[in-house]
This record gives sequence, structure tokens and C-alpha cells, in this order.
Amino acid sequence: MVNFFDTTLRDGEQSPGVSLTSEEKLLIARQLDAIGIKVIEAGSPATSKGEREGIKLIANEGFDAEICVYTRSLIKDIDLALDCDVDSIHLVVPSSDLHIEKKLKKDRETVKRGAIEGLEYARDHGLIVELSGEDASRADLNFLIELYSEGIKAGAERICFCDTVGVLTPERATEVFNSLSKLGVPASVHCHDDFGLATANSITAIKAGASQVHVTVNGIGERSGNTCLEEVVMALEGLYNVDTGIIKEDLYHISKLVSRLTKMDVAPNKSIVGDNSFTHESGIHIHGLSSDTSTYEPMPPETVGRRRRFIFGKHTGGASVKMALKEMDLEASNEQMAEILDRVKDMGEKGTRITDTDLQTIAETVLEVINEPKIKLSDLTVVSGKMIMPTASIKLNIDGKDVVEAGTGVGPVDAAINALRKATLNITEVQLEEYHVDAIKGGTDAIVEVSVRLSKGDKVISARGAHIDIIMASIEALIQGINNLY
Ligand code: MN
Repeated sequence: MVNFFDTTLRDGEQSPGVSLTSEEKLLIARQLDAIGIKVIEAGSPATSKGEREGIKLIANEGFDAEICVYTRSLIKDIDLALDCDVDSIHLVVPSSDLHIEKKLKKDRETVKRGAIEGLEYARDHGLIVELSGEDASRADLNFLIELYSEGIKAGAERICFCDTVGVLTPERATEVFNSLSKLGVPASVHCHDDFGLATANSITAIKAGASQVHVTVNGIGERSGNTCLEEVVMALEGLYNVDTGIIKEDLYHISKLVSRLTKMDVAPNKSIVGDNSFTHESGIHIHGLSSDTSTYEPMPPETVGRRRRFIFGKHTGGASVKMALKEMDLEASNEQMAEILDRVKDMGEKGTRITDTDLQTIAETVLEVINEPKIKLSDLTVVSGKMIMPTASIKLNIDGKDVVEAGTGVGPVDAAINALRKATLNITEVQLEEYHVDAIKGGTDAIVEVSVRLSKGDKVISARGAHIDIIMASIEALIQGINNLY
């Protein structure tokens, strides 16, 4: 069995532009612990006081996971780690001549001595030590083995091979881990994805004897990122028949959480957790899926906590719609089917991408099973001008109850949307993904069409509002979208 060491909160947080608060880190750590991660690298204590507060918070939560931090081989770093109440340190030592000579202006012997001193200090103070060679993939393997061997003698419980700039190949990973796995302690592999090889390298290392893999959720991390948790878990389970001990059904949930808190979007074509990973559009594929879903899916979406989705357009055929309706537990007569298909094609002609939630709305309208809308707009007032802050007040009827709220913004649309947001504060799962304005024809009296894309968990919906007044069009689109999602 392979151990998962997650560094979303350390290497992942080092992604350009990412900064998490202590509470956000704790939220992520809680999920990591719950899905079965064995070691959580919570941060790097030398970074800042705020960082240390976050680490300490996580270390004192009583998680099953071992809480680890990144340190250099410096007494001051290790003391800071001890202040944070952690179980272990990921003690990182430069190991390539490039790093030793160019970055540190030192030599191999000095670096090795420094590593052992730090290691012994940490051991004497009760810390578990994972001794890590930085830039190990460009280091002399003989020197690395010497460094690790002396480290193990000094009490290192684990060793780690870092492919710091992502230049490892699967062939080299096999060679290296054939040697490292014979040193008598668990060996970890830490990869970066500069050439898109992080997952392949990590899995090859595991096949060659690595017993722990460093990963991040969504593969976030410096430059092109680190080895991706969900890819390694699903490839090991699905392609190599290895039991990872990770709760796979929660992988999508944690991916969404990390993407939301780090504000790092996941590419639509990203494996396992991308928007398109389980979305089908082509008629031929959907026809195949309707007889057996494994024809065009490597795994059922439920395995990772997702749903199968369809996108429709003007090329959509009856079979696709029938299959999608079946997934939604909706039944239509031939006549109703023809009407649903007509409306889908009509929207498709206008170039709209119709999601399965859109289809559900169309189908429910045709089948007349649509419920009373959750939210109705009763009133909206907006004040805007040169000398005043744009302010809006809104009156909504939500589930039969009147709600009145006010909001300000950088402009009148922003103010109105903020007022709507405040009034719908308890409908927190809905996220505004996209906002787009089109004037249908020229002139200041033109009808304005606002399209929005909203999401709620795995459900994505597009909605539109058309009005002479851009503010009304925006609010209509948003309310329609929220109603369709419920
Ligand atoms: Mn790294």
C-alpha cells in the first residue's frame, strides 16, 4: 500500500498568486484528513507569523493524519516547527551541485554535515524526520545515496526524492527508486509537472519501490504544479488495481473546495475533475453510452462523486435527449419528445450551449412538472450618479416570504447584483461563473441581453434576461438561473 503525503497547503500554496487564510487552510486540512491522506504538509513555519498560526491550528485539531511542515536544516527553522506542535518535518537539503554551488555557494561535504546536524537536533526534540534531497533529479545519485544513508543512521524515518524542476523521466524514476527502495526506510517521490510527466513519474517510482507519494489537490503548485492527487489515486486504483485507501467518492468535492479557496480554476479538460471529464456532446458517443456507458467512459462518474453530463445543440438527436431524460427520471410521450427536441434545436440554432440542466428546464416546462419559482422579484430601485455611490434596494419573495435588502457597488449593475446577493445570502451554494452582455441591435434604446452561467456543485446552468434596462436584464437572468438550479 502506498502512503499519500499531501502538500496542497505548502507547495500548492506556493502557486503564483495563491494565499490562504488559517481558517481556509483548516477547512482543506479537514477534508484531506477525512479522505484518508496519511501525511499533511501544513506549511513552512519560517514563512511568517500568520503561516505559523495556521499550522498550529491544524496540528492541534486531533486529525488522524500526521501533520508535517517544511524546514531547511537550520536550528531556527526547526525551533519554529517545534513551536507549531507538529508531528514531523520535511527537512529539505539541496542535493544537486547546481543548487549546492550556485545557490548556496557551499560544497557537498558542508551541506551533508549541516543536514545531519539539523536532523539530529530535530530527532532529539521528538520530531519524525523525512529527509529530502532538493533538485535530486539533477544530483549525482552516488552523493544522494551517501546523504540518505548517513541521514538514516542519524535517525531519519523516511527519505524523499524531489524532482524540483520536473525534469525526471519514467525510465530514470525506475532506475533511481530501484536503488532508493533498498536503503531500509520508506522512500517518497515528489514530482513537478513541467513536462506533464508528474503522474507518470510518480506511478513509475511507486512501481519501482517508492512507498509514499507527494501530491496536491488539482495538481496546484509552483510553475506548472505538482503531482495531482486525483490522477494518481484513480490511475493506481483503475489501471493498476492498487488499493490507495483514499475515499475516491470525495475527490471531486475536495477539488471544488481547493479551486474555490485558492481561486485557481480547473481547466475544463483536466482529467478526473475537469468540467468536461464526464460530459458528452457527440451524437455517436451518446448513442454508444445509451447501450453501455463504458463504451465512452473509462470509469463511471459516480466513482469520484460526479454525475454524467450532456451538452446539446442543433445536432442533437432524439436518442441523446431520451438518454438524458432517463438520467433525470423524466418520461415523455412521443409528442412531448418531439416538442422538447424542437426547443433544444431552436436554442442550438442561436448558438447556445445547452447543458443538461437547461434541458431539464425545457423538459419540465413541456411536461408541465415545473414547480412554483423559488424566487420572485417584487421591486428594485437603483440610484446612481456622479457624486453618489451607486446603491440598489431590492425586494424579493423567497419561498413565499418577503426579503428586503440594499447593496452598493462600483456601478448600478454591480450594486443591484450585490443587493440580490445579500437578499439570497442563505442560498450560498450558487456561484456566478460568467456574466456577459449583448445589445441585440445598435442604439441606446436597444434590448439588452444578459447571459449568465451559474453553478451549484456539479450542476451548471446558463440563463438569460432580456430587457431595455441593463439592470433589469441582469437581475432577471440571475433570478431565472437560481430558480432553474432549484
Ligand atoms: Mn516542490
